[in-house]
Amino acid sequence: MVRGQKYLSAEISLLPDRTKKWSVRTAHIFPNTYAAGMSNLGYLAVFEVMHQFWQFFPQRFFGAEPFSLETGENLAQFPIISVSLSFEPDFLNLVRMFRRAGVPLRAEKRQQLVILGGAGATINPYSYSPFADAIFIGEGTEYIEKIFAILAENPVGRVPKAEILPELAKIPGVWVPAADSQLPPRAISKSEIPPVAKILSSFASFPNMVLVQIQRGCLFACPFCATPVIYNPFKNFSAESIISALAPWETAGYSRVGLVGSAIADHPELGELLDYFAARDVEVFTSSLRVDRLTDELLKKLAHTTRHTVTFAPETGSPHLKRQIRKDISAEGIISASAKIPAREIKLYYIVGLPGETEEDVRLTGEEIKTISRALGDRKIVASVNLFIPKRGTRWGDFPMMSHQELVRRFGILKKILRGQKNVIIDVNYKRRTRIQWALSVGGREVGEVFLETDNVSEIMSKLQKMGWDI
Ligand code: SF4
Repeated sequence: MVRGQKYLSAEISLLPDRTKKWSVRTAHIFPNTYAAGMSNLGYLAVFEVMHQFWQFFPQRFFGAEPFSLETGENLAQFPIISVSLSFEPDFLNLVRMFRRAGVPLRAEKRQQLVILGGAGATINPYSYSPFADAIFIGEGTEYIEKIFAILAENPVGRVPKAEILPELAKIPGVWVPAADSQLPPRAISKSEIPPVAKILSSFASFPNMVLVQIQRGCLFACPFCATPVIYNPFKNFSAESIISALAPWETAGYSRVGLVGSAIADHPELGELLDYFAARDVEVFTSSLRVDRLTDELLKKLAHTTRHTVTFAPETGSPHLKRQIRKDISAEGIISASAKIPAREIKLYYIVGLPGETEEDVRLTGEEIKTISRALGDRKIVASVNLFIPKRGTRWGDFPMMSHQELVRRFGILKKILRGQKNVIIDVNYKRRTRIQWALSVGGREVGEVFLETDNVSEIMSKLQKMGWDI
C-alpha cells in the first residue's frame, strides 16, 4: 500500500490525473505537516501549476519524510524539486529530508534542481542561498508557470543545470545565488484570478474547507509584519472573480469556505459574498477580523454564516503599544462584535516581546483577555500568544529579539493572570528552539551554512550563539 493512502483516500481533488509512469518526477515539498501544507494556498497553487504540464508527474512531500505521498518514491528519484517554505524553522525539516533521501544539500554538489519559494524564502532569501539552485522571491502563478514551462522543455538531467539556470534567472523574481550576489526585485503578481484550493482534505488544518484568497497584501503596515512587505500592492479580488474561481466547486459540491485575506472586513464586496454563501448554506470561515472595520450590517451577515470560530488579532492589550502598531482593536470592540456573531469559539492573537514592551504592558494584555473571557463566559476563548520575531525588511526588523529568560517570565505573568478563567485556553507558541527563526529571518548566507553542517538543533543553536546570536 502507498504510504500516503490514508491521506489520499480522504481527499477530493479537481486536478487532472498525471500519474503516467514515464513522466518526469516532480517533487513539491512542504516541510511541515500534511495538515498545514494542505491549508496553504501558496503550496497548493504551485502544485496546481505543475499539473498544467503533461510532461510532469507531480508528487507531494511533507515534514522531513523523504518518500512521496502519492507513490512512496524516494526524493532522490526526482530531478525537479520545488519547495514552499512558509515558516523559516521548517528549513530544518527540509535539510533532514534531503539527508534521509541521500540528496546533497549544497546546490553545486547536486544533480537535482531545487527551486525554493514561499513567504519564508521571500522575506530573507540569503539564509537559503547555499542550498537552493534558484529562489523565487515574491508571488504570482504567472511566474511559476514560466518556471515550469522552462523545466518542461529542458528536462533536468538531459539538459545541464548550468544551461537551465540562466534561463530561469530571466523570469521576474528568480534569483540564482551561485550566479549573482544581487537579489532581483520581488515579483509582483498581476493576476486577476483569485487563488482557490483545488484539493479538499479531511486531514487539513481547515478540514474539507475550500480556501479562496479574496485579497492580496495588506492595507495596514504593522511594524512587525512581513505581509505588506512581501505581498503589496494591496488588492481586493472582485466578488465576481471570486465566485467564478469557486465555480468548479459548485459542481463538485462544498459546504465550508475559508476567506483568506489580511483585511477581510475592508473588502468592499464582503457583504455580497456573505449573501452568496448564505444562499447556498455554505459556512464561512475568515482570517482574523479587524473589529474597528466591522459595520453592523456586516456583523449581521457574518452571524448567518460564521458558526464555529471568529478570529481577532488585537496583538496587545496595552494602549500605548496599540498606538505604536496602529491597531485600534479594543476589548469592548471584540466583546460587542462577538456578541453579534454566534460562533462557539473566539480566537485571539497576541504578541509578547514587542520592542518597547514593559511588564505592565504584558499585564494589560492578560487583563484584556480576562475582560473578554468574563464578558463572553458562554464561549470558548482561545488566546494564541506568539513572540515577536524580527523579519528582514519590516520597520522593526532591526530590533533584537527579547531574551529567552525574559520571554519565559512574561509568558508566566500572562498565565498567572488567566489562571482560573475556565473558558480560556492559553496557547503559548514558544520554545527556545523557536529562536532560530530570528537568525533565518534576518541573517545572511552564513546562517544557512550552519544548517548544512548539522541538523542537530542544540548544535545549530550553539553555532549561532558563537556567531553572536542571542538564541
Ligand atoms: S498584522 Fe495583519 S493587519 Fe497588520 S500588517 Fe500584518 S496582515 Fe496587515
